[in-house]
Amino acid sequence: MRMDRPVTDRTADARVTVFSLGGTIASTNDGPQTASGGVTPRLGAAELVQAVPQIQQVAELEAVAFRQTASGDLTLPDLVALAAEITQRFEQGVDGVVVTQGTDTIEETSFALDLLVAGDRPVVVTGAMRNPTLAGPDGPANLLAAVQVAAAPSAAGLGTVVVVNDEVHAARFVRKTHTSSPAAFRSVTVGPLGWIVEGRPRIAFRMPTLAGVPYRLGEGAVPPVALLTSVLGDDARLIAQVAAAGYSGLVLEAFGGGHVPAHVVPALEELAARMPVVLASRTGGGDVLRQTYGFPGSERDLLSRGLVPAGFLDGRKARILLSVLLASGRDLDGVRTAFEQVNDSVSLPDPARPVPADA
Ligand code: ASP
Repeated sequence: MRMDRPVTDRTADARVTVFSLGGTIASTNDGPQTASGGVTPRLGAAELVQAVPQIQQVAELEAVAFRQTASGDLTLPDLVALAAEITQRFEQGVDGVVVTQGTDTIEETSFALDLLVAGDRPVVVTGAMRNPTLAGPDGPANLLAAVQVAAAPSAAGLGTVVVVNDEVHAARFVRKTHTSSPAAFRSVTVGPLGWIVEGRPRIAFRMPTLAGVPYRLGEGAVPPVALLTSVLGDDARLIAQVAAAGYSGLVLEAFGGGHVPAHVVPALEELAARMPVVLASRTGGGDVLRQTYGFPGSERDLLSRGLVPAGFLDGRKARILLSVLLASGRDLDGVRTAFEQVNDSVSLPDPARPVPADA
């Protein structure tokens, strides 16, 4: 890891550390070309920060070039190492952290940081859709907005957020929904938590952080978790191979509210007896159902056979959670409990306390 000199000339009191990990926001075609041509990640945190002079008005900055890669090459161990660095900064009194990286995997990395970094101080992940060689690159504006959020007292207690296109999204919900648009990020189920106006975040609503759920990952390898999607005319061929291929868990993005073809059920039941199998939805929005449909292959059928409901987590985020849990040594009961705890962070009305008739 390369430590860059802190950027000085501050006029504000907040202390923010910017970690750069690569991605489009850092990609140029200066210098030696790759065999395939095109832009590649070359800029570090200090260069990104220096390109946006307005940032100096917002906070005292430390710039750290942490990784320099396309975001598809990031791994969970990279994020565990980053979470440790972030935690150390918070212990040293830093008010907020910004992570710049590729947008391709930002929905997974931001959720991993949400799970791995405890406490109330904001972790703000950002990137860009238009690289610095294009007209109207969005990286500088996204970086400035991310620092504005990380430095703002109102961002405390939000957990990890993704700030792109002047919107603030919860890591638990955000998804990349477009290959090239600067407005690629959406939180389908809840919408953005807030937005940035004239340099200040306006937070419209909050949800409790996940910091109450402690995850302590060991030094060893992260157990591999497979992610499969149900499709029309599916057979159970891939599901039957999951154990033999060496996976330690499976997340299944099933149809709709959590449904599969009836003939796939025996293979899922058999697998769920050997390892955690999490039931998510391929729709990308809403909760997996628990008590509505009763046909063979329905959510009721699958949950009665030992599958773990993902709740509102989509398949990619459920896979990150299951990976973190298995790496923390959780057994099946521990996995079930943690999925409930993460889902309880956004609470359903308590059925034990019915809403009064006149409410
Ligand atoms: N296209 C990607 C980006 O938006 C590349 C990456 O994820 O590294 O940054």
